[in-house]
Amino acid sequence: MKLNRRLFMGATAAAAASMAAPMVLAAGHGKPRVVVVGGGAGGATAARYIAKDSKGEIDVTLIEPTRMYYTCFFSNLYLGGFRDLASIGHSYGTLAAEYGINVVHDWAIGVDRDTKTVALAGGSSLPYDRLILSPGIDFVDGAVPGWDLSAQNKMPHAYKAGSQSELLKAQIMAMPQGGTFAMVAPPNPYRCPPGPYERVSMVAHLLKHVNPTAKILVADPKEAFSKQGLFEEGWNTHYSGMIERIGPDFGGGNVEVRPDTMELVIDGEVNKVDVCNVIPAMKAGRIVDAAAINDGNWAPVIAHTMQSKMDENIHVLGDSSAQGDMPKSGFSANSQAKVCANAVRGALTGSKVFPAKFSNTCWSLIDTDDGVKVGANYEATDKKIAKTDGSVSQTGEDAALRKTTYEESVGWYAGISADMFG
Ligand SMILES: Cc1cc2nc3c(=O)[nH]c(=O)nc-3n(C[C@H](O)[C@H](O)[C@H](O)COP(=O)(O)OP(=O)(O)OC[C@H]3O[C@@H](n4cnc5c(N)ncnc54)[C@H](O)[C@@H]3O)c2cc1C
Repeated sequence: MKLNRRLFMGATAAAAASMAAPMVLAAGHGKPRVVVVGGGAGGATAARYIAKDSKGEIDVTLIEPTRMYYTCFFSNLYLGGFRDLASIGHSYGTLAAEYGINVVHDWAIGVDRDTKTVALAGGSSLPYDRLILSPGIDFVDGAVPGWDLSAQNKMPHAYKAGSQSELLKAQIMAMPQGGTFAMVAPPNPYRCPPGPYERVSMVAHLLKHVNPTAKILVADPKEAFSKQGLFEEGWNTHYSGMIERIGPDFGGGNVEVRPDTMELVIDGEVNKVDVCNVIPAMKAGRIVDAAAINDGNWAPVIAHTMQSKMDENIHVLGDSSAQGDMPKSGFSANSQAKVCANAVRGALTGSKVFPAKFSNTCWSLIDTDDGVKVGANYEATDKKIAKTDGSVSQTGEDAALRKTTYEESVGWYAGISADMFG
């Protein structure tokens, strides 16, 4: 029977129950085949866990256009001068050589859900028994008037790391003394809730050393943001007088940019700026639309397995998924990938499936050794991934605790990189 959308959405609890007594779905064509689209925090982790734990019982193909994945996590630390670019770049060689994953450097451009095949930009197509989509984010067209991808060289987003991060850093270094760095912050929901504000901190840290009379201007459509009290305390302590944030009450949500003249218009007032970091509103990576498993900007999933609510043969991980309470972060994507890998293996080989549990911590660096964090644990319910408990750094903490928090983040970075790429 082919599941239609309504039937499958109503089958959430049944799907979860079926994970307890898994069915071997792939029969008649040799080993079951898993295709993973996107070799980032979600996709690389899922591919590695399925390959590692199935010990050759499942064929795993990973489709990823880039040869080198630059993590967005710690890309702000690169801007601040705490990391070099090479230290946040990772290749796929170990996944191919040691885990037997078929790494295909190409774009997935279409999904035929009837024939269960993925079409690649290079012209070929790949069959799957289970498809895992973890394509990260794309930007909502027209979200910031005056900005589109053709303007990203003049006004970088640097919200996909790599060349955009390098460009933004070069522009900051080339600012005239006393110049202005501007940021257009994104509306909710977006990847890495503290990311723009950690970036403000890291840019301030850099400017304090190379351009101490420079100013930072942030236009923000949100009333409030992640770890706001902690960031504002840190900005007062370390970067007093340098940062001005204009929230929605003062027109921070009513912006237009003019890349040719380097102008940022906030609520009708024209600001001439030297660097303009535009972070537009976000949506799921475009392949989610192509698969037609989106509901609006994101792809709804069943919390127990990360299966699409619209197609039981497709799982969606990380930023692209609409899953409930978890923030869109690398930690979350990695955590979801392990739940998904376990469910996929169970469904395809009959291996034991454990109840889904998730966790996340987002660390941010405000200045040298001044690290803060917010974290939580989550469980799968029939409605969503639901938060069970959480914790956050406090204002006024002593320097030793802040240093320990930063050091934790360095350990986490090494751990998640190894968990993704082997
Ligand atoms: C500045 C910044 C700082 C951040 N800091 C942190 C942090 O400290 N901690 C944290 O946990 N998270 C952080 N994040 C968030 C984190 O980077 C993302 O949430 C995480 O990478 C999401 O994982 P993902 O697998 O969904 O997407 P990604 O990791 O972005 O991976 C998506 C991959 O899919 C590929 N792809 C896209 N479309 C296709 C296609 N059609 N075919 C084939 N491949 C495709 C892309 O090339 C990409 O490699 C930060 C983000 C930013 C921008």
